[in-house]
Amino acid sequence: MMMIVRQSFGYAALNAYNTRHYNELFRVKSMTDKERDENAQWHDKLTPEQFNICRLKATEPPFTGKYADCKKDGIYQCICCGNPLFDSTTKYDSGSGWPSFWEVLSEQSVTEHVDVSHGMRRVEVTCKSCDAHLGHVFEDGPQPTGLRYCINSAALDLKERS
Ligand SMILES: [Zn+2]
Repeated sequence: MMMIVRQSFGYAALNAYNTRHYNELFRVKSMTDKERDENAQWHDKLTPEQFNICRLKATEPPFTGKYADCKKDGIYQCICCGNPLFDSTTKYDSGSGWPSFWEVLSEQSVTEHVDVSHGMRRVEVTCKSCDAHLGHVFEDGPQPTGLRYCINSAALDLKERS
């Protein structure tokens, strides 16, 4: 009996969450029909957290993502499309609570855009292949690049090297 109650609450909560995000999608007036269709597809493919971050540009709370402290060896790919983004050999502990890299994997990995939202001037990083929001890049990283790619764990999928 308890299980049924808890389960039905879970679905109700999830549905409320999904409805909220659908509403958010349709409020965006600048979005074209094509973009709206694509977002609806992503909405079905991704978890609510992944969708919120990758398609609606949210940020996961620090020290909560599954790759924040990850030291495993491999290639971090885009969770949406599988585009190879970062090599674990360029990951370092920035103390920020988000996975941090000092270099992108290749010229095909990301696109950078100036982002002036939230009263700050930052450089947003998106997947070059599918435009997923990944995080931001800052100029306080370690050498040799001096860059810190500060990326949401939810936007990443680590393919471990064997
Ligand atoms: Zn992608």
